[in-house]
Amino acid sequence: MRIWRAAALALTLAGCVQTASPIAAPNAARAAEMVQAKAEGKRKAQMFLQTVAAVAPVAKEICLEKQIVGNCDFQIFVDPRLRLPENAYQTVDYSGRPLIGFTLALLSDARDADEIAFVMGHEAAHHILGHLAQQAQTAQRAAQAAAVAAADQGQSRRQIRTAQRAAALAATEGYSKLFELQADALGAEIALRAGFDPLLGAAFFDRLPQPHHGEASSHPDNRTRKALVAQTVQQLRRRS
Ligand SMILES: [Zn+2]
Repeated sequence: MRIWRAAALALTLAGCVQTASPIAAPNAARAAEMVQAKAEGKRKAQMFLQTVAAVAPVAKEICLEKQIVGNCDFQIFVDPRLRLPENAYQTVDYSGRPLIGFTLALLSDARDADEIAFVMGHEAAHHILGHLAQQAQTAQRAAQAAAVAAADQGQSRRQIRTAQRAAALAATEGYSKLFELQADALGAEIALRAGFDPLLGAAFFDRLPQPHHGEASSHPDNRTRKALVAQTVQQLRRRS
């Protein structure tokens, strides 16, 4: 027994003096950063889920009140694709169910639940107001008119296609700005009814790059958007 213990001790000691190639010392700052990032990710995920729980029922209620679209059963999720830029988007699935996606970059940049709720309300508003269908219809009509005009002028098929694309883009661009403002106003109402502060939420605009004047842009300028949110909130508070 004593021999085994002595052998074990010898092995332990041998381990102590072994000169293996040194391992890299852990970078304490990097490790702390990773722990912090993980905690921050967890906090944001909880904030997102809580905001969804508060906003989705209100969005559904307003959607049913307006009666513009048939499906008001929102599914709100975080898009897990890491490379996507800061963005939130609205679309529908094959059954017509409205989907609202937040990219991880957007969630990571959002400062608080008020900002998340405002963006969520804005995207829900696009669906509630039937913007996708209207935009598709507008683009189709403009493209058709352009095709007829181009054909009348004897243009080639390729020229007709180019004219169609340009007309569709120009037609939807004008509508886009109007739709963005409509979605901001209704989005503010959704956020307010869900218990959030749309004025704080609209602070998100301050961090968006300002659209360049004279340049084709689908979004109105940030100051106009913030002013509209403030005006909407004032009107809603006066009414209640
Ligand atoms: Zn929008």
